[in-house]
Amino acid sequence: MKLKSKTNSIFIDGKWHDTEGQKTDIVYNPATLEPITEVAYGGKTETEEAIAAATRAFKTWSGMTGRERSRILYKAHELMLEDADRLGEILTTEQGKPLKEAVGEVKGAANFLLWYAEEASRTYGEWIPSSIKSKRLLVIPQPVGVVGAITPWNFPSSMITRKIAPALAAGCTVVLKPAPETPLSAIEIVKILEKAGMPNGVVNLVTGDAEAIGNTMLENKAVRLMTFTGSTAVGKYLMRESANHVKKLSLELGGHAPIVVFDDADIDKAVSLALASKFRNNGQTCICANRVYVHESIKGAFNEKLTEKAGQLKIGDGIEEGVKLGPLINRQAMEKVQKHLDDAVSNGAEVVCGGDKWQGRMNGYFYQPTVLSNVTDDMLVMNEETFGPLMPVQSFSDEDAVIEKANDTDYGLAAYIFTETTSRAVRVSEKLDYGIVGVNDVFPAVAEAPFGGIKQSGVGKEGGYHGMDEFLEMKYVSMGIDS
Ligand code: NAP
Repeated sequence: MKLKSKTNSIFIDGKWHDTEGQKTDIVYNPATLEPITEVAYGGKTETEEAIAAATRAFKTWSGMTGRERSRILYKAHELMLEDADRLGEILTTEQGKPLKEAVGEVKGAANFLLWYAEEASRTYGEWIPSSIKSKRLLVIPQPVGVVGAITPWNFPSSMITRKIAPALAAGCTVVLKPAPETPLSAIEIVKILEKAGMPNGVVNLVTGDAEAIGNTMLENKAVRLMTFTGSTAVGKYLMRESANHVKKLSLELGGHAPIVVFDDADIDKAVSLALASKFRNNGQTCICANRVYVHESIKGAFNEKLTEKAGQLKIGDGIEEGVKLGPLINRQAMEKVQKHLDDAVSNGAEVVCGGDKWQGRMNGYFYQPTVLSNVTDDMLVMNEETFGPLMPVQSFSDEDAVIEKANDTDYGLAAYIFTETTSRAVRVSEKLDYGIVGVNDVFPAVAEAPFGGIKQSGVGKEGGYHGMDEFLEMKYVSMGIDS
């Protein structure tokens, strides 16, 4: 993919800032480690300008009807779908995931634009029956105001539309800071919104110094909501700092998802979905399986099939046909996988498949799909988010005991169970302390459903009509009338 040596990446009040002569940041292809382009390294000044533009634009944008706002979102959805193949290629080039997954992500990202285009005209209020005859009580949903949005690199397209589509539909204006590894997908989304007719200042983009941009958003009273997807550590920081102006918060943070395969599961289905959960995006997914518990009566058959199939996954540059595992995003990601593996092995785990870096033709951070057995509860991989292609498998015999193990974590994003018994599916789903439970399903993230974690995996929901509520305040109007 050929791009210009410098790409304008700061968009404020409807204008792209020229990157020439400015401080820049290099964007690399994680498969080849070759530079793709350079983008602007903005900070406090640009963020302040962006917040000021968003504040001005809020007056008109929030005053438009939901139907008027939805027309722009419908158009953006259409433009994004038309361009999905090219956008997927950009995404793979900067992030590394296989092209098919990247195009799938772009289409999923477009779905958020469609869903919230539909929701824009459905922000219903309430008329509450009063206990006093001479009063009428109304509840009016109104947009929160200017939103500061910060997104990660692992889903550089869908994590953005999952935030900005409901924000825009609700009537909020946005200042967006994408991850430095993946600014190009963010730039493309902003260009699509521009082309769809988004008025100046409604969406603003600032790439650059995370701390300076984040702190400027936190310090500015005009920013009424911080919406963040990323690590729990940064989420906690934003939560603490948001206290100064009592900002609203929506946080989608880390996870440590268990997969529980019961003795009545369809083993082939469980194997293929467990692999898809663990190795999609090379294990760099907040809801991907971090630990697998298999009933001891089926562990032989399950492990054999799992190991065979994991070993067949093709590794390489995501742009190549048939590749299932691209590179990890950077050196630190690779080191974390190695650290978890070394810790497990030194404490008695057995490597049944993979277990090393992948020495391909490319320079990128490739790691073999790895399956571990003989794992114990105290190992790092069983407690920390690995964010890489490492799959520890343990066996269990008792339903209550495995639920207790599955819940024994500070995280609470997603958990999965495999069973063909309806009663068990319902009973266990109710007992799992997670925001999302997949029953014979590992792909729960869709535009129409509320996605989000509990405990240290976050606060708030993204997706569904619940996702819109994050961007609305319920104003209560109490009216005295002549009765
Ligand atoms: P991260 O290090 O927390 O970074 C996420 C974003 O926050 C980046 O844009 C980063 O920019 C920015 N950031 C870092 N420090 C900041 C600060 N002090 N102020 C403002 N912004 C700051 O997370 P990551 O490694 O990119 O993403 C992986 C994490 O995201 C995993 O834990 C994963 O589980 C989680 N995640 C959760 C969900 C969900 O829906 N729950 C979805 C996807 C990912 P810089 O890189 O420039 O510092």
